[in-house]
Amino acid sequence: MRDGIKRFTGGCLCGALRYEADGEPLNAGHCYCTDCQKVSGSGFIPFMGFPASALRIHGAFRPFVSKAANGGVATRNFCPVCSGLVFGGVVGESDSFTIYAGSLDDKSLFHPKIAIFARSRPHWAIMPPGVTVFEAMPPD
Ligand SMILES: [Zn+2]
Ligand SMILES: [Zn+2]
Repeated sequence: MRDGIKRFTGGCLCGALRYEADGEPLNAGHCYCTDCQKVSGSGFIPFMGFPASALRIHGAFRPFVSKAANGGVATRNFCPVCSGLVFGGVVGESDSFTIYAGSLDDKSLFHPKIAIFARSRPHWAIMPPGVTVFEAMPPD
């Protein structure tokens, strides 16, 4: 932390792809959509949103683009060396980005507030207590 501004740092398994994000996240939660399950090999992905201006990416990344639930596309970015899933969004284009919280250096900084796409949640993927639950995307 510097000048009282919160800083989130993290990266992939091998360390070749790193990021820093400053300030409070726009949102934080668990996504239980089937795409997040497939891409992570898990029951959900823990995510935090940041405005593009708050995020700096260091190192090479490999994007994977798939069709999104809102009819657009979702871009998820992996480390080209270790294939770790690190962040979502199109560098140089998106107004906001998603950081996958399992990539944080300090996992205790993540506080999930919402659960999205709860309709696709497997019974063994536990929902954190106290989160606001949405069956699909939260309304704007
Ligand atoms: Zn890596
Ligand atoms: Zn998802």
